[in-house]
Amino acid sequence: MSVTTAIELISRGTTAVPAPTSTCSPALARDPWAFDALPMPEYGPGASMGDTAPPATPRQGELPEEYRTASAPDLDRRIRAAKETLGESVVILGHFYQRDEVVQYADFVGDSYQLARAATERAEAEAIVFCGVHFMAETADMLSTPQQAVILPNLAAGCSMADMADIDSVSECWEQLTELFGSEPDADGRQPVIPVTYMNSSAALKGFCGEHGGIVCTSSNAAAVLEWAFERGQRVLFFPDQHLGRNTAKAMGVPLEHMPMWNPRKPWGGTDEQTLRDSRVILWHGFCSVHKRFTVAQIDKARAEFPGVRVIVHPECPMPVVDAADEAGSTDYIRKAIDAAEPGSTFAIGTEINMVNRLAAQYPQHTIFCLDPVICPCSTMYRIHPGYLAWVLEGLVEGRVMNRITVADNVAEPARVALNRMLAVRP
Ligand code: SF4
Repeated sequence: MSVTTAIELISRGTTAVPAPTSTCSPALARDPWAFDALPMPEYGPGASMGDTAPPATPRQGELPEEYRTASAPDLDRRIRAAKETLGESVVILGHFYQRDEVVQYADFVGDSYQLARAATERAEAEAIVFCGVHFMAETADMLSTPQQAVILPNLAAGCSMADMADIDSVSECWEQLTELFGSEPDADGRQPVIPVTYMNSSAALKGFCGEHGGIVCTSSNAAAVLEWAFERGQRVLFFPDQHLGRNTAKAMGVPLEHMPMWNPRKPWGGTDEQTLRDSRVILWHGFCSVHKRFTVAQIDKARAEFPGVRVIVHPECPMPVVDAADEAGSTDYIRKAIDAAEPGSTFAIGTEINMVNRLAAQYPQHTIFCLDPVICPCSTMYRIHPGYLAWVLEGLVEGRVMNRITVADNVAEPARVALNRMLAVRP
């Protein structure tokens, strides 16, 4: 049963729903256009609903009524017909965390980086419909050809974590760090600070890293990227995800006291000059609200109920959760670990519910469940509904490109420098 179906049944009070039997918000059962129409931008129901969307968050215009009122079978028929008509001229990409009702139409399913690469491998496609979130569509635009149009079916599908670091506050932080450390390298030729941005960030921040000797990382290669940065710098400024930065640096032997947090809402980031001077990694005060939900208590419960369970969590989880798990790794790592396991294995997984449920369906020879028993998907992925997909695809059939995501050349150029530095790093 898909996450969306389970949520619908729970919200209708159906008792035949297997555990888990509660959701993080009953508003999940509403259609996303109900939230797109609100006067102020918000992430909508789901794991990020407590986060504040910045006023500049992209807004989605009203979806035409015919798509809002169409039944699921009608949308299915229209999407398949449009896809058939468009043939090779369109490629649909679906993120691991996307709902099943949308992922079923994807030509490729993967993590953000795999999908951006998939886009480059389909040079004949004139349109790339990205069923993920905004920063992923930006990356696909930067890595695809100028003739290809990257389309995000719902512009309100952002990422609350990516929004926690914006170019103005990172630039302000950088100015203060430059004031403190200067910009001259030390006797070993190492720069005072190397900026490292997680793939889950705006193109502007990737461009910032490209311009300031920095680099991009993913959750698969974060350790190799930090090695690269330490060879070139005395310390690293890591944004936006504090947890990925902390978990990775800690595993590399960096003491916690050398990893101060920079909170952009506080003077000097809420830290002090001496702490910054002693630092090896300055962590940005950002987090993913999906992965923040996992707790050590959930791991303890899984181990009590399923002796021998293998607990794998994503490195965006808080440090105590990563420390308590058996393993931590990217979505791709999790998938490969399950794929390679002996039949009859039991896994408790700490990542987004749509991906965990799909893995459970794909690998029936194993017992696979989400550590968090509450159905609470990524709010922003959830904003993409088959209605939006039908709308953009039928637009393409009629020769109209809706919701195109483009990154300006002056941002894309340095951002590609930072991405290419990452590609040159061997994990
Ligand atoms: S799961 Fe977290 S990091 Fe990924 S898109 Fe959703 S909010 Fe952003």
